[in-house]
Amino acid sequence: MTVETVQVPAYRTFPVRVARVQRLSPGFVRVTFTGPELDAFASNGWDQRIKVMLPLPGRGILDCPAGDDWYGAWRALPPERQMPIRTYTVRGFRPERLEVDVDFVLHGATGPASAWAEQATTGDEVVLVGPNARFPGPTGGYEWHPPADASCLLVAGDETAVPAVCAIVESLPAGRLARVLLEVPTAADALDVAAPAGVEVTWLPRSPAHGAPPAPRGQLLTAAVVATVRELGPLLTPSPAAELADVDVDTEILWEVPADTAPQGSSGVYAWLAGEASVVKGLRRHLVQEAGVDRCSVAFMGYWREGRGSD
Ligand SMILES: Cc1cc2nc3c(=O)[nH]c(=O)nc-3n(C[C@H](O)[C@H](O)[C@H](O)COP(=O)(O)OP(=O)(O)OC[C@H]3O[C@@H](n4cnc5c(N)ncnc54)[C@H](O)[C@@H]3O)c2cc1C
Repeated sequence: MTVETVQVPAYRTFPVRVARVQRLSPGFVRVTFTGPELDAFASNGWDQRIKVMLPLPGRGILDCPAGDDWYGAWRALPPERQMPIRTYTVRGFRPERLEVDVDFVLHGATGPASAWAEQATTGDEVVLVGPNARFPGPTGGYEWHPPADASCLLVAGDETAVPAVCAIVESLPAGRLARVLLEVPTAADALDVAAPAGVEVTWLPRSPAHGAPPAPRGQLLTAAVVATVRELGPLLTPSPAAELADVDVDTEILWEVPADTAPQGSSGVYAWLAGEASVVKGLRRHLVQEAGVDRCSVAFMGYWREGRGSD
């Protein structure tokens, strides 16, 4: 008897439509997607990443790549029929209602995703690429792997990391010590987050309330991370200041994450840092080279790069 192995992809396409649009603040809009195929969607929670494939003018989602090899099918299309693809975070998933929430940063019409989100209305169609519940193994796509015995968590990022950080914060058990630092465009972009006891959330608006010029991107976040690391010093897992391979954030992706089986028993602080790549690169240098933090305890992720589209 021959046994046929059916290859099920870990990630698959989900054609969906917009069920609701909610403007959360000047800088964020929450788009709730729905569709019958979301019964096979499998968010792991935390910083679960997905792809959003955006409609093409005049063609909508007609060119949605079919089959299990969605990426190969997409690449095989002529460029003018390739739907733009961008990476986002699952902010909320309600399987019983077949609904997925994505919080989009509104940074103007310079990128297809932000431009689409500015105009999104009920009924609009997009395609999500996300974890497949029918896949027999772990679907992955998230980087939040703190050791159970980490004495303190440091979670920091800019506005693009806010959805991931809020989802992480809301999943923490009460009593888990965590310092959360979030740089956002304005004070009105400090979103509601249900932080359990023990979690201290600090919002860092670049634009002060009274019309003074905004702080340069990353300045407040960097200063806050440096100060927090200094304060947490005694809890840090010391490591000899390490030589770091340079990452050219204009040509490479800055993505340095500890294995999902982070070592247990050796941990003080576990840190998760995401945002604009050059800012995260500066934080990486500070933590690993200057503060001597063990890089096995820190996830550094460049979520986007100023001046470069992420296609
Ligand atoms: C794992 C992961 C998860 C992410 N989750 C989210 C999320 O939940 N919500 C979210 O909003 N973003 C998220 N991002 C970031 C998002 O993918 C980028 O911001 C993306 O570039 C947006 O695509 P776009 O089409 O709007 O702009 P692009 O076409 O990619 O870029 C066009 C121009 O806009 C600039 N730009 C891009 N993003 C920003 C920004 N935020 N502010 C100012 N200028 C910008 C670029 O530098 C470029 O000059 C995530 C990224 C990763 C890697």
